[in-house]
Amino acid sequence: MLLRDFKIQLFNEDFNIKKILEEIIHIQGQEDAFYVVDIDDLVKKHKNWCDKLPRVQPFYAVKCNDTQAMLEILAALGVGFDCASKAEIQKVKSLGVSSDRIIYANPCKTNSYIRYAASQGVTCMTFDNATELYKIKQNFPSAELVLRIRCDAKEAQCPLGSKFGAIPSAVPELLTVARELGLNLIGVSFHVGSGCADVTAYSNAISSAKEVFTMAAHMGFQFRLLDLGGGYPGHHNHGFPTFDQLADSINDALDEHFPRGCGVRIIAEPGRYYVSSAFTLATCVIAKREVLNDTSQGTMYYTNDGVYGSFNCLLYDHAAVQMKSLKEYQEKDWCMPSSIWGPTCDSLDCILKRVLMPSMDVGDWLYWPNMGAYTCSAASTFNGFPRPEFHYVASEFTWSYLADLLAVCFHEDVEASSVDEDLAACLKLPSPSATLRILSIETTTT
Ligand code: PLP
Repeated sequence: MLLRDFKIQLFNEDFNIKKILEEIIHIQGQEDAFYVVDIDDLVKKHKNWCDKLPRVQPFYAVKCNDTQAMLEILAALGVGFDCASKAEIQKVKSLGVSSDRIIYANPCKTNSYIRYAASQGVTCMTFDNATELYKIKQNFPSAELVLRIRCDAKEAQCPLGSKFGAIPSAVPELLTVARELGLNLIGVSFHVGSGCADVTAYSNAISSAKEVFTMAAHMGFQFRLLDLGGGYPGHHNHGFPTFDQLADSINDALDEHFPRGCGVRIIAEPGRYYVSSAFTLATCVIAKREVLNDTSQGTMYYTNDGVYGSFNCLLYDHAAVQMKSLKEYQEKDWCMPSSIWGPTCDSLDCILKRVLMPSMDVGDWLYWPNMGAYTCSAASTFNGFPRPEFHYVASEFTWSYLADLLAVCFHEDVEASSVDEDLAACLKLPSPSATLRILSIETTTT
């Protein structure tokens, strides 16, 4: 049995992120960096996905942010999961998610992980090379295989094509090997690049996938799955296409190459789309250094999360972060040349090398919106600095909706007599008169 325990603050009005931060910092006495996680945002994203891409079933890419509560909520919403490793499969399975809602979407897998997937009934997995086909033949010959092809966006925040994806000239040989080995190929996947900056990328990729479907049909395969991978934006980003623009182009390409009724199931592996905007990181100014005779760095501020923690996204995800101050300042005050540093003893640990900002003091708070993607999932505790805690917030409306879903999801495991009082209150739906309450939710599952 697993015990889940997370706290959710419920609001009966629209959130005001600054008010929430103030309450956590000043009333709850927070000093370490922390995240505020907006559950409404996550639920809205899912609804938007279903509205804009009604033919495409999302399989959330766990690597992007594997926070337990987020995974539970996504599971309750009926989202599938893209797992890249044994541990990710274990984590998703531990939520009670059935194996057919998991795709093992790593084209280069460890032998024993393939056997583990087989033992768990996770049958669907990707490949992009012949060596992988021989490994799968040995470890899980009845697996349902999805050929990942290379279809790079002209521009992406994190291109992936140099590492994964079969180029067109390699495809006939891979299909031939698969046929000779008697393997069960069921479809095609691609990933145009994470943080896609090219509005034509998906339509080009869907058209290429169709060519592979046709080639495979000539060789006797009956493909039935198309996997559109990830790459969708998680928040508004200047110079990047919007989700709506990408969705329009995907829908048009699907209508052309995989029309309704064609018998092909369409899935995708969105990561950042779901989680980016739901997470706001708050960090405290822990030290300040005026560097005499050196104006290049301006005033140096040290804050309690850095590139070894959440801001690893600056290195690995090539992210651009946005800094805000919790204290109100006039526009004219944002004029002091400054630099923002993480808390570790490494000089690489710099968040912003040069920024104009107001003069701040030790104990002042900064906050950073859109920090949900490829941040906490890759953060370390280097130098002993803890990973930020999570503070979940939801509107009463959204929570009551979710509480019903979660109750259904964990129905077998929640016995009336053992239900925590707060959970019981929560399942009965929160009273509309409450303005702010903290519920401790404990759920047991197998
Ligand atoms: N699927 C695979 C195989 C990936 O490698 C990734 C990210 O690296 C994703 C999905 C998620 O991509 P994104 O966060 O851009 O949606």
